[in-house]
This record gives sequence, structure tokens and C-alpha cells, in this order.
Amino acid sequence: MSVFRPKEILQTYTDLDIDNLRKNGFDTILIDVDNTIAIPNTGTCDEKAEKFLNDLKKAGFKVIILSNNNRRRVKMFIRDIDVDFVSLALKPLPFGYLRAMAKAHSKPSKTVVLGDQLMTDILGANLCGCYGIYTKRLQEKDTTMTAINRRIENIVWRKILHEEV
Ligand SMILES: [Mg+2]
Repeated sequence: MSVFRPKEILQTYTDLDIDNLRKNGFDTILIDVDNTIAIPNTGTCDEKAEKFLNDLKKAGFKVIILSNNNRRRVKMFIRDIDVDFVSLALKPLPFGYLRAMAKAHSKPSKTVVLGDQLMTDILGANLCGCYGIYTKRLQEKDTTMTAINRRIENIVWRKILHEEV
């Protein structure tokens, strides 16, 4: 189950310890959109999310949005904010992560992945050798596909937590 295990668990994305990650040598962050920093499918980059992205950039992070959703959805989230993205990323497969790291001219050992799903965001991060940080989803309601992932995820969580006992 270690392939699903996040390196850190956050209550919400703003709990991310940006300075500490920079101190530990990370310079790139790949961020999921739906239910990580925006309401699924409809949420745009609100003030809180925009401040978060700016704080990351100010701290020296290269920020890339990494979403399994389509280009239209990701652009709707980003609006006029200056941030690069990879859409239709096919997480947990490595391709999207590799494309995003190429955009940032970075490598897995310097890359943080932030997302709300073990089965996609965190699994892919671990497969690529990135530092996966799990954040609790913003709202309970998921898309159908995500809801299926969640059921599996609940089983994985039980196993992970059991291993830690
Ligand atoms: Mg998500």
C-alpha cells in the first residue's frame, strides 16, 4: 500500500508549509484543481486560491496546474491568472507529471504534488518519485468517476491506517 501513501496530509491546501518545502529543496509544485483548490467542475480561482498560488511563486516555486479535467475546465479555473497547466493529465499515469516537470525544467526529487485523491494525484506522485501531499477535499460531492475512486480509496485508507497501528 506504500505506493498510495502520501508524504503529508493536510486539512486544507492553505495549510501547506511553503517555506519548509523550499528549505527542503523543492522548487516545483504540481497542483490538482477539482476539490483540491476549487469546487469540482465549476469553481474558479477565488481570492484565497489566487493568494495561495502567488505565495508559492513569491517563495520561489514554479507552479504548474495538473488536472485530469479538460482544457476548457482548467482555463475556466485559471481565468486571467498567470500560471501554466497540463490538462487531460491522465493521472496516475506518469505522462502528465513528466510534461509538467518538463515545463518547469525540474525533476521529481524537487517536485511536490498536491491533490485530494490517493488513486490519482498521490499514486502518480509516488510512481514518478515526486513528493505527494494529500489534502482533504473541499466538498463531499464528487463526479461519478471520482466517486468510484473514492470507494477504492476508502479501502486503501483503512489499510494504510492499519499499517501505521
Ligand atoms: Mg481532485
